[in-house]
Amino acid sequence: MKVVGCLEELRVLRAGLAEPLGLVPTMGYLHAGHASLVRRARAECASVAVSIFVNPTQFSPREDLAAYPRDLPRDLTLLEAEGVDLVWTPEVGDVYPAGDQTWVTVEGVSRGLEGERRPGHFRGVATVVAKLLHAFQPQRAYFGQKDAQQAVVIRRMARDLLIPVEIVVCPTVREADGLALSSRNSYLSAEERKAAAVLYRALSVASGTFASGEHESERLRQIMRSVLAGEPLAHPHYVSVADPETLEELQGKVVQALLSMAVGIGKTTLIDNLVIRER
Ligand code: AMP
Repeated sequence: MKVVGCLEELRVLRAGLAEPLGLVPTMGYLHAGHASLVRRARAECASVAVSIFVNPTQFSPREDLAAYPRDLPRDLTLLEAEGVDLVWTPEVGDVYPAGDQTWVTVEGVSRGLEGERRPGHFRGVATVVAKLLHAFQPQRAYFGQKDAQQAVVIRRMARDLLIPVEIVVCPTVREADGLALSSRNSYLSAEERKAAAVLYRALSVASGTFASGEHESERLRQIMRSVLAGEPLAHPHYVSVADPETLEELQGKVVQALLSMAVGIGKTTLIDNLVIRER
């Protein structure tokens, strides 16, 4: 496994990789969710590359970029064990050249949900992923369903900018109690960690109710809100029943939907989602 920092070196090593190349972009502090993307890429591609970059432009000034967890030696051990070929660990200046003036903004699908809660977040995400796709020129790039809106934004961006890459979205990896794995889970105290299972519980109760015939979108929102209300440590930012492609909030009866939520647990905000479909 080759690990490089500088862009020129990355380009040289990338040129020597067998194709198709699969890229897994990450912000590091890797867990089994990231590993599942690498494994999928390994199974589908001749070579696999990973980027580890805590992207400053997707954090708002209110969010603590400096406190984002990091452990590069551990990350590299995990990636080596997964058979990754190439890892890029750039500095901010490698990704954002001094004096840069160029941003990628995806309009409609960036607006609601996380876009509303975190203004500018998806501009940072779309910009960095566009740069990563140009730097690596992978045939496929792998993302997690955990960040459902991010996946929709990136797919739209790649299509709109005519970038020749297939965006592959992989299922959310969860703990035994349903909590979606996330680097941010490391911020939770033991008590908060227990409370955090309420997100998946709320999604599961709504999904189960949908499966037994309740298709009214507002009722599904109410069900999720009432499960969350049963957990005193949980403070919902939003609870949504949206169209899985346009991410527009749905009214009336739904045939398929993205159930999603952002919930504060102590000082940490967690997000999660489930897609429901009529069988
Ligand atoms: P991050 O390092 O948090 O930016 O995540 C890098 C990639 O891993 C993104 O595409 C995430 O959606 C994905 N990811 C994060 N957590 C999970 C999880 N629990 N299951 C599957 N994919 C995940």
